[in-house]
Parts: sequence; C-alpha cells; structure tokens
Amino acid sequence: MGKGVLLIISGPSGSGKGTIVERLVSDLGYSISISATTRSPRPNEKDGVHYFFKTKESFEKMIDDEELLEHACFCGNYYGTPKRYVEEQLEAGRNIILEIEVQGALQVKEKYNDAVLIFTMPPTLTELRRRLENRGTEDKETIDKRMKRAEEELEYLPKYDYLVINDTVDEAVKDVDIIVKAERMKCSRNPELKKKFKGDVC
Ligand code: 5GP
Repeated sequence: MGKGVLLIISGPSGSGKGTIVERLVSDLGYSISISATTRSPRPNEKDGVHYFFKTKESFEKMIDDEELLEHACFCGNYYGTPKRYVEEQLEAGRNIILEIEVQGALQVKEKYNDAVLIFTMPPTLTELRRRLENRGTEDKETIDKRMKRAEEELEYLPKYDYLVINDTVDEAVKDVDIIVKAERMKCSRNPELKKKFKGDVC
C-alpha cells in the first residue's frame, strides 16, 4: 500500500520515547531518521548511530545548503533532521520515525500535511522527574531545565494528533503501531485503491 507513514514522536526527555522508538525499529521494522546535533555525545552514544554530532559551523552549513527537513534549538543546542534519507524511505513505502521536539514537529507538519504527530508522556510529571533522576546522565540543574521545558512542551499538545501514555513500554509500542496501521488504511492515503476494485463485479 502506497507511501510509508511519516511518524513524529515527541515528548519530554524521560518520557521513554527513545525506548518506544527502539522497539518499533527492532521488533516491528520501522525506519528511523538519525538527527544531526551540536550537543556533546553522552558516554554510550556513537556518531552516526545515535546522532550525527556536528560543530556549530558544520550544522549551520547544513542549514544553508538546505539539507535539513527541519531544525530547532533545544536547551542551547541545535538539532535537525537530514532530509534525503526521510524522503527515500517514504518513497520506498516504509514507515519512518522522527523522534524530535515540538518546534521541529510543527515545521514538518507544515511541509507534510499527512505526517502523524504523536506525543508521549509518562503517567504523571512526578514520574517524569523520577525517570530523569534514575537515568543518572544529567545533573540537577539540567534536570530542572528539562522539567521546565516539559511543561512548556505540553502547551503544544493540542497541535498533536495523538497522545500515548507510556506506562508500560509494551503497551505504548502497541498503541503507536495501532495508530500507524489505521493511518495506512485511510482512504485519503490510498486514492489509487478505487481502481483496484473497478471492473471487479460479475
Ligand atoms: P536529547 O539531547 O535528549 O537527545 O534530545 C533533546 C530533544 O531534542 C528531544 O526532545 C529530542 O526528541 C529532540 N530532537 C532530537 N533530534 C531532533 C531533530 O532532528 N530535530 C528536532 N527538532 N528535535 C530533535
């Protein structure tokens, strides 16, 4: 059936969206877009796997050369989605995930009206803080900054198509996959289908 779904998954850091996305890729065959960023790698992160890590100058060159589908500044660093890979995957009929923050998500929706925007949240903000603290990768100041940012991001919820509460990862992964399956069955995404049934009557 037609083109793949351009799926955007946003949500505060610590909402577990990264784990949901990993499972959609490893268990269900979704493609993922690897972003470029100017943030420094965390200890377990590899260039070209988790992100393409860039200097500010080389990131700004990507913007000037129109290589990015969208980009945004988040907590003092640039993040952006390389355009070419996303377009290739959609043409090949594959579902592709962009795990990006709200400003970028809205830029993509402007260009691709049929992009599907999903916002993920843990059951409560208290649980969000607990998950950030347990992760142990950020200091208290960064966690406070990310909690504040989470509340700001929640203001954008009405612009999203779906909210998925990440209480257990298994359920959240299933919920996202159900949404994508339903999206792929939309008549508006499959205008060629009426031809398939024409002339099919005895
Ligand atoms: P982190 O530094 O925790 O990896 O990511 C910080 C935020 O940037 C997250 O909300 C993540 O989804 C978002 N992000 C990652 N890649 C991109 C991107 O290419 N574009 C935009 N707009 N946001 C991104």
